[in-house]
Amino acid sequence: MTDRLARLRKTLARKNLDGIVVTQPQNIRYLSGFTSPDALLIITQSGRGLAADKALLATDFRYFEQVADQSPHFELLALKDKPHETLGACWAELHEQGLYRLAYEKTHLTVDRHKRFRQVLPRRVRFRGTEGLVEDLRMVKDDAEIDAIRRAVLLGDAAFMAVAPRLNPGMTEKAVAWQLEAWAREHGAERASFEFIVAGGPNAAKPHAVQTDRPIQEGEPVTVDMGVVVDGYCSDMTRTFCLGEPDSKFREIWHIVLEAQEKATAGIRAGVTGQAIDTLARDVIAQAGYGENFGHGLGHGVGLAVHEAPGLSQRYPKPLPAGSVVTVEPGIYLTGWGGVRIEDMVVVRANGAEVLTTTPKTLTNQLTK
Ligand code: ZN
Ligand code: ZN
Repeated sequence: MTDRLARLRKTLARKNLDGIVVTQPQNIRYLSGFTSPDALLIITQSGRGLAADKALLATDFRYFEQVADQSPHFELLALKDKPHETLGACWAELHEQGLYRLAYEKTHLTVDRHKRFRQVLPRRVRFRGTEGLVEDLRMVKDDAEIDAIRRAVLLGDAAFMAVAPRLNPGMTEKAVAWQLEAWAREHGAERASFEFIVAGGPNAAKPHAVQTDRPIQEGEPVTVDMGVVVDGYCSDMTRTFCLGEPDSKFREIWHIVLEAQEKATAGIRAGVTGQAIDTLARDVIAQAGYGENFGHGLGHGVGLAVHEAPGLSQRYPKPLPAGSVVTVEPGIYLTGWGGVRIEDMVVVRANGAEVLTTTPKTLTNQLTK
């Protein structure tokens, strides 16, 4: 964790900032280990006078013990009845010691909170909105993070493999979603990483379908998109299958999506852009005549958040760093019929993709076929 602070301080130096106030909950957890969102961090630059090298965690009485347990390398700033007065005093002191340029996370801080912070900051302090400073650090996972992600992936896989073969026509989407989540929770998941998608038939034509009370029918596409959290880290996986015998249409679409996924996965290695990988999958689907029916990006980073940097999409022209973890999830969606999506999680390595997901890819819920 101290290494993470050192990396953040390098970023601050490069951006000519004296410090940053971190309010985004996953960024707080990443830098400090503190798991409650009711806190903020103040981290200052190294080597700039007396205000240098501060790492403060501001929170209230409910969490004092938790700070000592989870974040021993942070100094506690105890927020009393009027938290902004405490913060103001702290900032004034840091300013006295040489803090002039303080960053905040503009994609997270609310307008209201910004106003209140500004009111208690010394007038001469420049309060500057920044974007993605900590998120960029979070992209590259260390071994402990990859280990937690792997455990989340394997638990999600185990839930799917235990529940999917037992599904029968007539079960509702909601019931299937609950069986999957209950199995994962009973076997150690902290929670679901997002509300599971279980979508049958026409509902599967919506990439982000909401679970309904509609019973699943034999022979129609059923998309299950699920993920669980272990030690704060998320998994994310999608399979589309049918109950009973798949028809020729389902087979055709399913195999195109699988080919797109395999081509893209084979192209992944550190240094290749997210855009180039997205193109690999998109070309397969376009050549098969379904280019218009793949309307979302190919994948996204996963970590403490289920959607984070880097991206695999036409909007991500930057190279993928080694140690990042991404999903590969092409899909084809046909209004009125349904859709097929297949999603795995992979670690980006120097020489290729290390696939974490172990759930078999099969046309039916009988996972050997
Ligand atoms: Zn997913
Ligand atoms: Zn995903």
